[in-house]
Parts: sequence; C-alpha cells; structure tokens
Amino acid sequence: MHFDIKRQIIQNFNNMEKGKIGVTTENIFPIIKKFLYSDHEIFLRELVSNAVDATQKLKTLSSAGDFKGELGDLNVKITVDPKKKTITVSDNGIGMTGEEIDKFLNQIAFSSANEFLDKYKDQAAAMIGHFGLGFYSAFMVSEKVEVISRSWRENEPAVKWTCDGSPEYSIEESSRSERGTDVILYIEKESKEFLDESRIEGLLKKYCSFLPVPVIFGHIKEWKDGKYVDTDEQKTINNTKPAWTKKPSELKDEDYNAFYHELYPMGEDPLFYIHLNVDYPFKLTGILYFPKIRNNFEIQKNKIQLYCNQVFVTDSVEGIVPDFLTLLHGVIDSPDIPLNVSRSYLQSDSNVKKISSHITKKVSDRLSDIFKKERENFESKWDDLKLFIEYGMITEEKFYEKAIKFSLFKSTTGKYFTQDEYSELIKANQTDKDNNLIHLYSTDTVAQHTYIEKAVARGYDVLVLDGQLDAHLINALESKATGSRYVRVDSDVIDNLIKKEEQKESKLTAAQTSDLTTAFRSQVTESDKTKFQVVFESLADDDLPVLITQSEFMRRMKEMSQFGGGYTFYGDLPDSFNLVVNSNHPIVVSLSETLYQEHGEELKKNNSGIEKTQMEIEFMEKEHSSKKPEEVTTVEKDDLEKLKQDKVALEEKRKVILSGFASEHPAVKQLIDLAMLANNMLKGEALSSFVKRSISLL
Ligand code: ADP
Repeated sequence: MHFDIKRQIIQNFNNMEKGKIGVTTENIFPIIKKFLYSDHEIFLRELVSNAVDATQKLKTLSSAGDFKGELGDLNVKITVDPKKKTITVSDNGIGMTGEEIDKFLNQIAFSSANEFLDKYKDQAAAMIGHFGLGFYSAFMVSEKVEVISRSWRENEPAVKWTCDGSPEYSIEESSRSERGTDVILYIEKESKEFLDESRIEGLLKKYCSFLPVPVIFGHIKEWKDGKYVDTDEQKTINNTKPAWTKKPSELKDEDYNAFYHELYPMGEDPLFYIHLNVDYPFKLTGILYFPKIRNNFEIQKNKIQLYCNQVFVTDSVEGIVPDFLTLLHGVIDSPDIPLNVSRSYLQSDSNVKKISSHITKKVSDRLSDIFKKERENFESKWDDLKLFIEYGMITEEKFYEKAIKFSLFKSTTGKYFTQDEYSELIKANQTDKDNNLIHLYSTDTVAQHTYIEKAVARGYDVLVLDGQLDAHLINALESKATGSRYVRVDSDVIDNLIKKEEQKESKLTAAQTSDLTTAFRSQVTESDKTKFQVVFESLADDDLPVLITQSEFMRRMKEMSQFGGGYTFYGDLPDSFNLVVNSNHPIVVSLSETLYQEHGEELKKNNSGIEKTQMEIEFMEKEHSSKKPEEVTTVEKDDLEKLKQDKVALEEKRKVILSGFASEHPAVKQLIDLAMLANNMLKGEALSSFVKRSISLL
C-alpha cells in the first residue's frame, strides 16, 4: 500500500538535506512509544533482523555475480555504550546509498509503520506486536536514532541519517570506510534498562538464538584473579544452522536430542521427535518433540517456539497448532503464518488451518510409524505418551481416526494391546447376552483389588484406565464403536457386569428381602456427600455377603465434571453407592431366619394389620370415587385420613422392630463395615468402632 507522502523540504544544503517525514500523523513517535508498551523489547529483534537481511541480500548479489568484491566474514554486531547511552547494531551487509535511505527509511519504512499503527491502534496491544513495525520500532526506546551506512556499490559515499523523534530528519555525508550499516540508538531515560548488557544479552538469546548469520555481542569471559574478565575473543550468541533447517537425512537421533537440550537446557530427554518439512502449499519447517513430563509445571514452561525465518516470534502457538499439540515441545518456523493479527483471525486464516491439519497428520503418521517399526519402544513409552494421544483423540476427529490404530490399552496383567487386539482377546469370554463386548477396567488397581481378583477368577481381563482423560476417552470409544461398553470392575456385582444368563434363584422371598433391606438400611451411615442404596442380589453362596458398587454412569459423569465442559451438574451431586447384599449367602440367610425366630409373631401381626388397613383404605377409596366429590361427607373423609395414618404408624412400627433387630445383631453392621473396608471407605470413628466390635466378636 502506498501513502501519499508529501515531503516538505525545509532547507536544502549542498551536502545536507533536511526533511519532514509523513503528514498523515503529525508526529507518530509518541504513538509508537505508547503503543505496544509491553513489547518495547522487540526493537532489538527488528533491527537485528534488518541487519541479517542486509547480509543475506549481499550474499544473493554475490552469488548472482552482481557483487564481485570480497564478502569477508558476514556478521551482525551489537554494542552497548552505557556512558554515551547508546546501543549500536552494525552489519557488513549491502548498506544503503543516500537515495536508498530516503526511499527505504523516510518513505517505505515510515509509511508501513504508519499503516501498521493505523490498522491496529484500536486493538489490544497484547493481540499484536509480533511483526510489522520494523525499523521505526527503534523509536520505542530512543530519543534519537542515527543510521550511518555505506552501500556495496562502488563510488557511493557513506551517509548519515538522523532523526530525533520529531518528524524532522536530516541526511548528510558521513565517513564509514567499510560497506555496511550502523544503526545507533540514543536510548531515552525511560528505557535505560536496555543499557544493561545482561538485559541485551537476554533479549538476543530470546529472539536471535537461531538467526542464520553470526550475531556477535561482547566477548567470551574467563576467570582471572578471582573474577570474570573479557578475553579478546568475540562472543557469538547464535547457532546459525539449527537442526530444523537441516534435512532429516543429515541428522541422527543424538542430534535431535542435542537440539532439544539447546532449546530447553533443563528438560529431560524427549520421548520422540517429529521433523516437519513442507514446501507446498505453504512453507513450514520445524521439529516437534513428545516430552517426558515430570509435572504439569513443565508443560507450561517449555512451550513450542514459533519462528519466522529463524527469528523468534512467540512461544504462544494457540490457534496455530491444534490444542492437543500445544502440549508438545519444539520449534515451528514458517514465513506463512500471519503474525500481526489477532488470535481469532488467525484461527480462521486458511493457511493456518492447512498448517494445523498438516501438523496433525504428520504427528499421527510419525506415531503410527514408530508403532509399526518399534512396537516395543512404543509400548515402553506408552504411559508417558498416553496423555497427548488421548487428548488428541478426544478433541480432533482426524487424529482419532488414525490414532485408534496405534493407541494402546494396558491390561492389569501388564500387557499392551491395540483396540482390535483387545477386542479379539476378550470376545469369547466377555460378550454379554445382548451381544455387547464388555471391557472391564480399574482406575486404581490397589483400591479395587478385590473386584479385579473376582473378575480375573472368572477368566475376565481387566484394563488399567487410570489416566486423567480416560473417562472422556471411553465415552468417545463407546459412541464410536457401538456394541462396546466399558464398566469399572466395582460398578456392579460380577454377574451383573457381564450379564450372561438369567438371574440365579434367591433363597429369600421378596417379603424377606424387604424386611432385611430395612434392617440393613438402619445401620448405614450417610453424609451429604455420600449416599447409599441398599439392594439385594441373588449371587452365588460363596460370593461376598455384602459389597459396595458405584454406578458406572454417575461416577463417570462426576469424573468428567472435574474437567468442566457441561458436566458440572453432575459434579455437584453427592456420590451415590449401592450396598449390595447377597441374598444367597449363608450368613444373610441365617440372619433372616433369626429375625423371624425372634420377631416372627410380632412381624406377622404387624403385617396382617398393615394388610387389613390397606384393604380398608382401598375399599373406602372405591366408595368415594363412585360418588360425586361434593357428596363425600367430612366424616367419611376423616375416616379415610385416619386409616392412612394408622397404616403409616404400623409401617413405622415395623421399621422400629427391624432396626431394633439390626442393632441387637452386630453381624449386620459388621457385614456393612467389611464391605466399606474393602472399598477403602471406612475411616475415623467408624473404623475405630469396627475394630472394637471385631475384637468383642472374637
Ligand atoms: P522491512 O524490514 O519489513 O522491509 P523496515 O522498516 O524494518 O521494514 O525496513 C525498511 C527498509 O530499510 C528495509 O526493507 C531495507 O531495505 C532497509 N534497511 C533497514 N535496515 C537496513 C540495514 N541494516 N541495511 C540495509 N538496509 C536496511
């Protein structure tokens, strides 16, 4: 875009020219300064990049034969002079003639800086500021900028451009014997932090570590007479040929690992790497690593770094790579990612979309390759890899399709299986009567040991699904592969986990189990957070007398609520468990017998009382309903009400008898506590009284 720049020549001397740049904004420097406040430091990146470009251009001219002189050692040098309060960026690149300075700095650079500011001044500074301000970013930290340059062309004099922050500039002849450019920044008071050498060194390391031309800053130090002193040897900040710019065929595993440590000196060896190298339809190179993560803190610390032609841009790649890949480490370098736009715009950019899906494909291809060629290695790293892969499978449809072939299941036996292999393994024994393939799993092999043991005794296999995302993953798996179901080993009694035939006969009648249910219920302690439901199941007589299960559905919803995303409703509900009583277990059967030996008469009487009252209620209700509502007298209504109250009182009486029985027979509480104990739910006072009771029972 071209701006109509009206140059007002104020004075015109023989060898000195004064001018005024741009009229669109009377004075853009105050705006530049205010703008991108938090990003002031990028001036250094901009100036060093310009200097690098200038040397690269010279190389191009040389190889094209246009420049015939000696190239010499091409480099960029940065110096800080705290006394003069200057920072100088020098290069021995193409340099500029007076005319070029006028064209590039006064016109083009100015107008693009101006255009940039115009476009983004309304946006939050945080959203932009990656690229675009260019040369003029020097004014974010300087009260005056001088450019002394000498072109590569022969017979062109050196020139000096000076601008003090007002729109006025001057160009005059100068003395520079060698080809190249010095950009001298006179640092303003508010920016004096940049006169600190260690600050500049830090910035150079951040932005310039992998620039393609040597960047020199200061000297190598040595330890002498009790302190560090400069040697004569100049210090190069950067690695001009970082691994990602090389061909994969030139690199060995060690080189990839070494580069990882160059990026993250404190990191552990990564698990795998992926070398990205695309030319079309966009340019992208880079190396991504699957890190070995010791804790969550590290995921946040070692982020993927985004470069543009080897210049560091940012380490926030959200929107450029799919969410699950932001967990990876490494480098992406692409000149095709628009950097000075907002994140939301970035996500809708078609190039960025292509880049994102390309990276996803590359990652899945590479993993699939390792899985096929080095299965053992893959398995040994699976536990560390799992989080990334599952995250990807849950959030990226495309990735799911590929990963389903190499994602692994770990059995409690320690073996690993692909989904297909596992289906094959359990098909014969774990298909239920409705033809569902039932996957049993444990989220905690220690706490759920009793249940695992029972399942294994049946010849079932139990998976270990103890990862943070496993609940989400099995939801996805169930919705994709119909006929596959996942149930935690303790979510029901073993016969119900994989239902194969009709229920076993119960040794207790419905009435007997109903009485015992009330008896057991009276001995269960609940809290706001934990609720129990007492249910009777006819299990084998050698099965446990009482056990605790938790509904698969509720538990899974609650687990997922921890990660938010629409499940929060479940998160607020109490945990609800089933207290399953085995109606065929000898102890339970004998308890029932004792109950009727001791309270048989009483209960029988109570029962006939309830039955009689119920009959009377029904009779009366029938009579009332045969009349019009207004014909039912108050006396009749009162009689019915009285009968209902009688019935409630009788039921209440029955409850008292049954809970009285339960509290007189410690076996009831003991059986419940044993089940709680097996589930690691017996704590504090409940545990102490269990211990006391156990001793007294001995
Ligand atoms: P950009 O680098 O994006 O083109 P800048 O505002 O940073 O924009 O610079 C404007 C122009 O000034 C450059 O394109 C280049 O032609 C010229 N320039 C800047 N710095 C140098 C330098 N150190 N050596 C030679 N030319 C330079």
